[in-house]
Amino acid sequence: MTAADGTGGLAHRLAPLKMSPDEFRDHGHRMVDRIAALFEGMPERRVAPDTKPAEIRGILGRGDLPRVGADPSHILEEATALLFEWSRFNSHPRYWGYIGGCPAPISVLSDLLATAIDQNVVMWNSGPMAAEIEAQTVRWLAELIGYPSDCGGLFVSGGTMANFVGLHAARRTLARWDVRKEGMAGAPAPLRIYASEETHTWLQKTADMAGLGTDAIRWIEIDGERRLKTSDLEARLADDLKRGDLPFLVIGSAGTVSTGAIDPLPRIAEIGRQHGMWFHVDGAYGAPAAVLADAPPDLLGLREADSIALDPHKWLYSPFEAGCVLVRDRQALVEAFGFRPSYYHMDYPPGEEPIHYYEQGPQNTRAFRALKVWTALRQAGRDGYRQMIEDDIRLSQELYRQADTEPELEAGTQSLSIATFRYVPKDLDPAHPEAEAYLNTLNAALLSRLQRGGEAYMSNAVIDGRYLLRACIVNFHAQLGDIRVTIDVVLRIGAAVDAELRPPALRPGA
Ligand SMILES: *Cc1c(COP(=O)(O)O)cnc(C)c1O
Repeated sequence: MTAADGTGGLAHRLAPLKMSPDEFRDHGHRMVDRIAALFEGMPERRVAPDTKPAEIRGILGRGDLPRVGADPSHILEEATALLFEWSRFNSHPRYWGYIGGCPAPISVLSDLLATAIDQNVVMWNSGPMAAEIEAQTVRWLAELIGYPSDCGGLFVSGGTMANFVGLHAARRTLARWDVRKEGMAGAPAPLRIYASEETHTWLQKTADMAGLGTDAIRWIEIDGERRLKTSDLEARLADDLKRGDLPFLVIGSAGTVSTGAIDPLPRIAEIGRQHGMWFHVDGAYGAPAAVLADAPPDLLGLREADSIALDPHKWLYSPFEAGCVLVRDRQALVEAFGFRPSYYHMDYPPGEEPIHYYEQGPQNTRAFRALKVWTALRQAGRDGYRQMIEDDIRLSQELYRQADTEPELEAGTQSLSIATFRYVPKDLDPAHPEAEAYLNTLNAALLSRLQRGGEAYMSNAVIDGRYLLRACIVNFHAQLGDIRVTIDVVLRIGAAVDAELRPPALRPGA
């Protein structure tokens, strides 16, 4: 081969990763058929496998990096089999753990399309249509939640990075020294951030990443409904101002991660304005609920935010990863993230310079994440999203109602589409000094067994020291019948675990 054509094989390269169009078609069709069968059989599958790390490592095997290649047919078949058998499925109708939206099939196909054309949405001309679709999707997300649609924004990996972009833009906008050059060393006094104790851990991570340190965060107390207490916010602000600190950022959650609590956003916005602070809303979970005709006024306060983090891979039913940040002042992102390197060739007519996404956020090379959101928004429309989100909330309320009426379940909280409750055996004396500690042990063991059992999947919330089961329904496959099935599974497992674990001192007649 090398010698024969005198080009060293370079005239007709035999690259090992090449695939003929016919082969591609054949592998692709078979893959789509397998995925369609997976979706079709999902309700009969386990939600999650019952396994341990050592078992999975054993099944995968510890083989060395192959020296030579192999047949793609076999590789794709094996990858499919391994993943179908040993995965936890967000698209199972009874997956209600954490906040993982079930992936819309149109978005799954869109991801295939996005990777096939392999657009790097870095500069406008590296993907002209992709860049404009991203801009349009950002606009549509703003419209969906009633935010000004002339805002800036971009797609990022998830809620954590979306929140990071908001925090970083706030820092750049409000630092009165050249913070990009001098960093925090130039700060005349410590910068302060205000957020409730219930805020997701993105805040610690990003305060650290932005060089502010976690001590910059003032954790504000919560009220009986686990919402930021504005009287405490005002007290902490007064304290810090007296000391000469620089409050610059106040954060509200549009749906907290544990219980879906909605902070009093309009009041937080007002306090932020009074003090010239940046108002950021973490809407990673709950922002899409602003589309509802009867959205709570507290939630609609997100419309006053300077920046909002959204997570389409949660309540917009997009596959991972898809986060999005919206920023009221479009210029703020370029000022926080823009550097112009010499190696990017720019050639646009005067006044027609388009958005270059590398100047808008922390990433340079960027996947085309917007496509799967754009196609889903078009398939369902605003009304379709309104219906799906409303149905998720109604199912969550029904779960809470059923938990409340079951003698052996104790209802905890219900907000947006998150319900919490716990198993309490009928014959347990709640006044016994060890009862509460036992209930925590019992419900934690119940959750482990439920997750391993594969019939339904929930996570947990710890509220005032009580360990509760937590169901977050962001899943358009869930139906009324799944609520009953789940309640029955919890009752059955609860009784079995109680029979095994209850200490003699807590048994009736002890
Ligand atoms: C999920 C979530 C986050 C983090 O988002 P990721 O996509 O996991 O990075 C932040 N805040 C809230 C309220 C969330 O629900």
